Amino acid sequence: MLQAKTEYGNIITLASFTQKEISSLKEHTQFFCPACQEPVIAKAGSKMIPHFAHTSKSNCPVREGGEGPYHEKGKLLLYQWLKYQQLDAQLEAYLPTISQRSDILIKLKNKTVAIEYQCARIPSAEIIKRNKGYQREGIVPIWILGANQFNRRKRNEIGIDQFQLHFIHQFSSDFPLTLYFFCPNTLRFISFQDLYFPVMQRAMGKITIRKLNDMVFTDLFNASSFTRQDLFQSWKQEKRSFRIRPSRRMFGRELMWNQWLYANAAHRETLPSIIYLPVSAQFRMKTQPWDWQSRLCLEIIHPIAAGGTFSLQRCMHMLRHHVRHSASFPLINSNANPVYQYLQLLEQLRIIRETAPNHFTKQNPIIFYEHIESALKGDELLLDQFISSS
Ligand SMILES: [Zn+2]
Repeated sequence: MLQAKTEYGNIITLASFTQKEISSLKEHTQFFCPACQEPVIAKAGSKMIPHFAHTSKSNCPVREGGEGPYHEKGKLLLYQWLKYQQLDAQLEAYLPTISQRSDILIKLKNKTVAIEYQCARIPSAEIIKRNKGYQREGIVPIWILGANQFNRRKRNEIGIDQFQLHFIHQFSSDFPLTLYFFCPNTLRFISFQDLYFPVMQRAMGKITIRKLNDMVFTDLFNASSFTRQDLFQSWKQEKRSFRIRPSRRMFGRELMWNQWLYANAAHRETLPSIIYLPVSAQFRMKTQPWDWQSRLCLEIIHPIAAGGTFSLQRCMHMLRHHVRHSASFPLINSNANPVYQYLQLLEQLRIIRETAPNHFTKQNPIIFYEHIESALKGDELLLDQFISSS
């Protein structure tokens, strides 16, 4: 941690002193942890930001799990950036009512924001617990990941794992899904917004990279979106590689899906083009988009004759093992349902129509292909329909 209390009760940020001043401070002053009140040790080596450390026996509720100099440096830079903007920001603010310490706490006119700069992996339960604490106190948490976790794959695509999923923000239902990253070495701040997952492990979206010093705090709430054109063009490539990728050894859910396809006498190469479409709430699913979308089409919609009906509830029941628990997304203030979003796309394509709230009537048959060539052509045409209608 960067701050400690002296025996006289004032808070000291070690990094704001010179090495010489620190040596003299260490001789004459005792330091204590503002959270647990135990004595802490001042550390000021040449390679790291001067900071305080608990003794190894400590049971402090906010003792850090060794996040290291990268984290300490980033935290301090973010704090200085906020102070420079004359914001009421507090470094390492300890909140006794919830036994939590936020990296930075910002008091705004009508709300309080906690900044968590997260560079190390911590258990999901810990992330959820901290967010619940903030929620109880009416504090808005903003989690910024260390840019050491920014895994760019293409111009508008990054790799995202299970851990990072927890940090997707959506401040309101019309705000795009957003992930933040910050690099203390290059001072670059990255916003990754309007995420769409073509597979579970990757998301495409709008990447904005700026120097921290060219930004102000409220820039965090700028909404930047992927254009429909960009989205569906990129989706075409995903869909193409999905069709033509050679079969490989499969396991787990992929194997289960292939067995299910086989039992239904269907093949990946010739599935209808309406299977595997982009929906923004895909992150809520535990299975790949083509997996649950094909089950919905083949098991529910396809067997129904034109004019027949089905409900969203029936779809949700069939896919109940495909949906993640909503507690996994504490920073998302929207209940967008991926299955409903998908049904809306099918409505745009005139396959079905929502004739009463959450009740659908089938309008047109689902088209299957004979050959991969016609399937590939059909995919292009279908995705072009979305581009031209947007
Ligand atoms: Zn402590």
